[in-house]
Amino acid sequence: MDVHAQYDVVVIGGGASGLAAALAAAREGAHVVILERDVACGLPILATGNGRCNLSAERLGPEHYRHPDIARAVMGEEPERTLEAFFASVGILTMAEEGRLYPYSKRAESVRDALLAACEREGVEFRRGCDVVASWRDDAAGAWALTLREPVSPLRAKRGRDAKATLRAERRALEGAARREAKISARTVVLAPGGRSEGLCELFGVPHLPERPVLCPVAGSFDASPHALERLDGLRAEARLSLVREGDTVWQEEGEVLFRPYGISGIVSFDASRRVRAGDKLALDVFPAYEERELAAHLAARETVLGSLDAASSPWFDGLLARPLAELVLAQARENDGGHPSVSAIAHAAKRLVFTVEGTAEERQAQVRRGGIPFDAVDSATLACAEPHLSGVYACGEALDMDADCGGFNLAWAWTSGLVAGSAAAREATRQ
Ligand SMILES: Cc1cc2nc3c(=O)[nH]c(=O)nc-3n(C[C@H](O)[C@H](O)[C@H](O)COP(=O)(O)OP(=O)(O)OC[C@H]3O[C@@H](n4cnc5c(N)ncnc54)[C@H](O)[C@@H]3O)c2cc1C
Repeated sequence: MDVHAQYDVVVIGGGASGLAAALAAAREGAHVVILERDVACGLPILATGNGRCNLSAERLGPEHYRHPDIARAVMGEEPERTLEAFFASVGILTMAEEGRLYPYSKRAESVRDALLAACEREGVEFRRGCDVVASWRDDAAGAWALTLREPVSPLRAKRGRDAKATLRAERRALEGAARREAKISARTVVLAPGGRSEGLCELFGVPHLPERPVLCPVAGSFDASPHALERLDGLRAEARLSLVREGDTVWQEEGEVLFRPYGISGIVSFDASRRVRAGDKLALDVFPAYEERELAAHLAARETVLGSLDAASSPWFDGLLARPLAELVLAQARENDGGHPSVSAIAHAAKRLVFTVEGTAEERQAQVRRGGIPFDAVDSATLACAEPHLSGVYACGEALDMDADCGGFNLAWAWTSGLVAGSAAAREATRQ
C-alpha cells in the first residue's frame, strides 16, 4: 500500500461535530487529521444563531430531541456540565439569553476561531478542499486506507471587500484548482459530514436513512379564510401553537409567528416543522397571555369605550390586533358561530385560529436534516458502527439520525456526540 501519511484518527468533515471529535481525540493523545471538503473548517458555524451562534441551551432536556432515550444515553445525565467544561477548555465564555447560550462575544466567528486555535494547539492537522474518493479496510494492518483528491498546492485567492467576498473567491479558486490523489491511512475514522451524509455512507457501506429538511417554515392555510395569508404576509404576532392530531393536542409551544404567503415561519413554526404531517391542524392562539374568559371580559370592557362589537369590522380592533389579523379572527368567529360574533365568540376564535398543514416550506432555509445514519447501526456508548465490516468507523453530529428543536439543542448534540465519538475513536486507535 502506497501510503503518504499515517494517522491514528481521521475525522471526515470539519464542522461543529468534527472539530469537537478531533479535539477530543487529540486530547486522548492521538495523531489526528481533519479532512474538510470546503475551503476551510468550521464554516457552517458562522451561519448559526444569525451570526451569534446559539451554541447550546441552559437546560438540555432530552424531550427536545428526535430520539430522547438515545440523546440521554449519548449526551449523559448532565450534558450542560460536559459542555460548560468543553467550552471553558477552548476559552469560550458563555452567556444566557432566555434559556439559550451564546458566546460572550456574541459572534459565531469567535466560536469557530477558538475551536480552530484549540485544534492547532493540540496538533490536529487539517487537509482542506479534500474529498475522500475511496476507502477500504486493511484488516492485516488494522487500519483504514483512504484515497483523497485534494489541491496540489495551497489555494490562492484575492481578498474580497469583506469575509463573504473572500470566501466566494476562495471557493472559486478551489473549483479551478489542480488536484492530485493522495493515500492516507488511519486506525479509526470518524464520519462528521453533517446533514448530507449519503455519499460518504455509500463510500464506507454505512447504513443510511433518507434525509429530509426540518426546522423550516410550515406550509398551509387558515380554514376560515383560505386567502388570509396574502394579507397577513410579513406580519409578526406572539402566539401559542398547538398541534392537534385526531382530536388530541400532541404538542404546544409559544413564540413569535411570522406570517408568509405560503404559511407560517419563525422559530416556533420551525419547531412545529419537526412534528407536522400533511393534513394536521395547528391551532394558533394569538392571545397566549390571556385566559379565554379574561380576553372576553377585556373585549366587553372595550365595547364600553369603542361601541358595540355588533357588526364590527377590523378597525374596531385597532390598537389590539393588526387589521389583517383582526379580519382573520372575525372570519374564524363567523365560521364557528355564523352571524354577528359576540365578544365570547371573538375571544374563542382568537385563541383558536385553525390552520391546516400542507407540509414544510422554504426547505433551502432548513437548519437541519432528518435522516442519515440510523441508531441501530451504532453503539450508543461510543458511536462506533456496529457491523463487523465497519470496525474502527465512528459517526457524530447531524450525520446521525438526530435532530432537535431550535434553541441550541442541535449544536449541543453536535459538540457532545463529537466528543463521545472522538474520544472512543482515539482510545481504540491508540490501544496497544
Ligand atoms: C442557518 C442555520 C442556522 C443555525 N443555527 C443554529 C443555532 O443557532 N443553534 C444550533 O444549535 N443549531 C443551529 N443550526 C444547526 C447546526 O448548524 C447543525 O446542527 C450543526 O452545524 C451540525 O454540525 P455537524 O458537524 O454535524 O455538521 P456541519 O456543521 O454541517 O459540518 C459538516 C462539515 O463536513 C463537511 N463535509 C461534508 N461532506 C464532506 C465530505 N464528504 N468530505 C469532507 N468534508 C465534508 C462540510 O463542508 C462541513 O464543513 C443552524 C443551521 C443553519 C443552517
